[in-house]
Amino acid sequence: NLTGKTALVTGSTSGIGLAIAVELAKAGARIAVHSLPGDKGADDAVAAMKDAGAPEARFFGADVSKAGEIHTLMGEAEAFGPIDILVNNAGIQHTAGIADMPDEKWDAIIAINLSANFHTMKAVLPGMAARGYGRVVNIASVHGLVASKDKTPYVAAKHGLVGMSKVVALEYANKGDAAKGGVTVNCIGPGWTETPLIEDQIQAAAAKAGGDRDKGIAALLSEKQPSERLTRTSDLGALAVFLCSDAAQNITGVTIPVDGGWTAQ
Ligand code: NAD
Repeated sequence: NLTGKTALVTGSTSGIGLAIAVELAKAGARIAVHSLPGDKGADDAVAAMKDAGAPEARFFGADVSKAGEIHTLMGEAEAFGPIDILVNNAGIQHTAGIADMPDEKWDAIIAINLSANFHTMKAVLPGMAARGYGRVVNIASVHGLVASKDKTPYVAAKHGLVGMSKVVALEYANKGDAAKGGVTVNCIGPGWTETPLIEDQIQAAAAKAGGDRDKGIAALLSEKQPSERLTRTSDLGALAVFLCSDAAQNITGVTIPVDGGWTAQ
């Protein structure tokens, strides 16, 4: 039960972030919804939080590729909060071999998928420790643990996020208040999860399978994900709620794959 807690979920107008925010709202948390300024999905996402049972929900717009905008975001979100739960989820993808990877894609993916998480964690952790309870859930990826070709910046950023999360978990392991659940920092490592982020890859695989989208998804799964099932965004939401619970008070510094066996191979 997360009643009385406030959660900031970055990138929560779409896909995994939206589903995690909904599950946190169902558990009773107040939700700071976040995405790019002017995101057309903002009002619907805030309404979805209220429908799910959030006592309060508000949208915060900030481009997390820019440190200055993150600093403003965190000030506003702390004023709405204070933030007890931070879910670092906003992320982008671009696939190409290293020789064809545009420099701008490298910079953008490192900024959004890695550096932004440094800035948001730096902003909230001292307050979490002072109040006794804090939960950071970083949405890494199987690509925080293993590699695939054509993903240099993404794999570099996600491995970096897994490493950074371990450092921060150690720094805060004995901070906070044991009776309140302490401060923990963990990653979730999804495998293939159907969201707009993987649509280009689904389309490329579908094109190879004669334009059949379902066959394209099946091909992506059979290559990497032994369960041959997609991860559901709600599965990730349920895991995030568990990591925020009292039962997870002594889980810190880990990455939990939700990948149908991908990283067991
Ligand atoms: P998505 O495209 O559906 O959602 C991404 C969200 O991040 C959107 O709300 C978008 O507006 C926001 N965002 C992107 N760039 C931003 C920026 N510069 N500033 C502010 N907000 C920004 O994607 P998703 O699949 O739900 O991805 C969420 C996270 O899950 C990402 O970190 C991604 O790497 C990770 N992930 C996804 C999969 C998958 O298969 N979909 C697998 C593993 C990990």
